Parts: sequence; C-alpha cells; structure tokens
Amino acid sequence: MAEFTMELNDEQKEVRDWLHGFAADVIRPAAAEWDEREETPWPVIQEAAKVGIYSLDFYAQQYFDSTGLGIPMAMEELFWGDAGIALSIVGTGLAAVGVLANGTEEQIGTWIPQMYGDANDVKVAAFCSSEPDAGSDVASMRTRAVYDEAKDEWVLNGTKTWATNGGIANVHVVVAVVDPDLGSKGHASFIVPPGTPGLGQGQKFKKHGIRASHTAEVVLDDVRVPGSCLLGGKEKLDERLARARERARAGGERVKNAAMATFEASRPAVGAMAVGTARAAYEVALDYAVTREQFGRPIIDNQGVAFQLADMRTSIDAARLLVWRASWMAINGKPFTAAEGSMSKLFASETAKKVTAQAIQILGGNGYTREYPVERMHRDAAIYTIFEGTSEIQRLVIARTLAGGVAIR
Ligand SMILES: Cc1cc2nc3c(=O)[nH]c(=O)nc-3n(C[C@H](O)[C@H](O)[C@H](O)COP(=O)(O)OP(=O)(O)OC[C@H]3O[C@@H](n4cnc5c(N)ncnc54)[C@H](O)[C@@H]3O)c2cc1C
Repeated sequence: MAEFTMELNDEQKEVRDWLHGFAADVIRPAAAEWDEREETPWPVIQEAAKVGIYSLDFYAQQYFDSTGLGIPMAMEELFWGDAGIALSIVGTGLAAVGVLANGTEEQIGTWIPQMYGDANDVKVAAFCSSEPDAGSDVASMRTRAVYDEAKDEWVLNGTKTWATNGGIANVHVVVAVVDPDLGSKGHASFIVPPGTPGLGQGQKFKKHGIRASHTAEVVLDDVRVPGSCLLGGKEKLDERLARARERARAGGERVKNAAMATFEASRPAVGAMAVGTARAAYEVALDYAVTREQFGRPIIDNQGVAFQLADMRTSIDAARLLVWRASWMAINGKPFTAAEGSMSKLFASETAKKVTAQAIQILGGNGYTREYPVERMHRDAAIYTIFEGTSEIQRLVIARTLAGGVAIR
C-alpha cells in the first residue's frame, strides 16, 4: 500500500505542470469560441491526441497511479482549462472504463483503440445508460437486449438520452435490460460497433453549459450486434443472472439501484472536474479583486470581498481533500463505508456552483458578460450537481450508509 502523503511526487508534479500548460495554452484560449459554437472541438481533441493526452495510454497511466491521485489531478487541470472542451477530451474515457471494467481482454484490445482512433483521425466513444424515464432510477431502464441464439446475435431496441458523444461516437457502449424481473441486476452492457445499422442520433440538446460537449439522444431500432459484443461474454452473464435469480427466489438481498452504487468509484473524478472549474473561477475573481479599484482602492481591500475569496479558497481546498481521500481509498481497495465517493462529488459540485456564482459577484457587471469567463464557468458548474448522480442522490447514498439499514427514500 502506498504511504499516505499530502504531497504530489516529482513525477506527478511534472505531469500536472504539463497538463496545466496544455490547459492554459490550448484549452482556455479556445473555450469561448467552442462554447458559442456548441460543437465538438475536434481540432482541440486532435491537439490533445498529438501530445498524448487524448489516448488510452495516458488515461491508463493516471488510472493506475499507485497513490490514486493521477486521475483527480488530471481532471482538475483539464477542467481548469474549460469544462466543455475537457469533457470532450475525457468523455471517451468514461466509455473506455466501462469496457475495461467489464470486458474480456479481447474486447478491450479490439474496441478501445477504435474509441480513440489516432492523432490523424481522432474518434470518440459514448456511454449510453440514461433513458427518458430512467435517470436517477436506473432500474426503470427499458432498452431491451434479446438474444437470437440461431444467429448468435443480440438485438437491441430502445431510446437512450443525455449521451455524451451520443450519435457522433465511433463506438457506443449501451446498457440494456436482458432480464426485466431482476431490476438493475438484469442489465448488461454491449458494444455497438462503428456503422451498425439501426443506431441513430435523436435530438442533440442545446444546453445551459458545457456547450462544447455534444449531448444527444441515441435511438436503437433493431440494432443487431454479434454475440462477441456482450461485454464480459455470455457465460459470465448467464452465471451472474443465475446467481441473481437464486437470490431473488430466496427473497434475499434487495436489488440495488445501480445509479446509486455502481458509480461510487467514478464519483471522485467528477468531484475533481468540479474542483478544476471552481479553482479557475476563484483565480479570475482573485486577480480581478486585486486590480479593480473603486473608492480609490482595490476592491479586495474591502473585507466583504476578501472574506468571500477566503471562503471560496477554503471550500475549494476542502473539496480537493475529499476528492483525494476518496481516490486514495479507491486505489487502496478501502470500502466506501460512509459513501466517501459520493461525499466528495456532492461537496465539490456544490462548491463549484457556489464559487462560480461568487466569482460573478466579485467581477460585478463584467462578471455577468461573456467578455469574462466566469459566467461560462458558472453555467458549466451546474452540470456537476446533475450527472453521475444528482446531489440529492449523493445525499441519499450517504444517508443510507449512516442509517444502518433504515430504508431512507
Ligand atoms: C450534459 C449531460 C451529460 C450526460 N452524460 C451522460 C452520459 O454520457 N451517459 C449517460 O448514461 N447519462 C448521461 N447523463 C445523464 C445524467 O446522468 C442524468 O441526467 C442524471 O442521472 C439525472 O437523471 P434525470 O435527468 O432523469 O433526472 P431525474 O432522475 O428525473 O431527477 C429530477 C430531480 O429529482 C430528484 N430526484 C430523483 N429521485 C430522487 C430521490 N429518490 N430523492 C430525492 N430526489 C430525487 C433529482 O435529484 C433531480 O433533482 C448526462 C446528463 C447531462 C445533463
């Protein structure tokens, strides 16, 4: 087990500074343009691919960093640059993790390279779980996957929504119901390969923030994928379903809601994104407060402004510490007995919303315009309290761990 320390090691500092340089020189200058265009920033993704930031190798290196701080550090720096562009860069990683976590070695080797493409021809991937009637309540999912034994194919039908990179992805990872009686235990994940007939993009959403990240519905109409596209394989699925049916028959373990438990380990990463946005807004506000003069002195000379900045900085540091704790616990296999992953995401995302609003206030009229980046950061920050489990769902998860078996609804 790696020794606990609050300090990044030299290698991590080097990676952090490299990422910060990319965020400052490439991402931040492009942020306003792609926010206005509301389009995927392909040239920026390509730049990231050229320098090695947009690649499985980079993601895997950070993921397997033995201190657990590789991913949170990377997320903080990239999202400090700009949340919408950074999500376009790391969105593929969410789908790739789905394959890494559940796929066979062959599936990992076949599909993950196709998710990223290469620097001359970059591709993206999408993870499609949410549906119009199954957001927080993942167990209500309706997209069905039916096995056609004669052809060894799975047939997928349904509508997915809110999919980051949905419809423009080269590879889609789709979660579908294989046994409706088992709630979320009856779900399985499938690869939908490039160009598969029947998969189409529904509406593309016009969003409040993270507008450089593409979000759309994905419609699956008799989509046929080979048996080899079931992540983990049929044998493993059959065993898992048999165990779940056995438990259900025995009236045992309540079927858990996947949205509440499955994402626990990925939540600190979202917390780190929120820390990046909050830190970015805080820095702009601090800079403004020391240079803007009113009543013959910098506005930071007013305790009312300085105390706001003190609170902003304190909350950001507290959020980062919760994120680092959860990330350290995850890499060291410590169970989240008090939902520490959810705590980090809840606190960091609420902090980002609050700090970005305070930054607008400190910039006064300028803060409210698109001449300055804080209004964009505030719009962007709102997503953190919604995706990968809303703040209410995080509180629910935390409360349940505290209540010792009392069914809190
Ligand atoms: C920009 C964006 C990108 C996304 N990317 C992806 C993606 O790539 N893949 C994917 O699968 N999904 C994605 N999502 C979906 C996201 O995870 C869902 O929006 C989220 O889980 C909430 O679901 P919902 O929108 O249906 O809200 P609902 O579940 O309908 O919630 C509405 C409100 O009710 C509250 N609520 C619901 N249940 C409870 C409860 N039991 N107790 C208290 N309050 C409750 C919620 O907190 C919320 O405030 C994305 C969403 C957005 C906006």
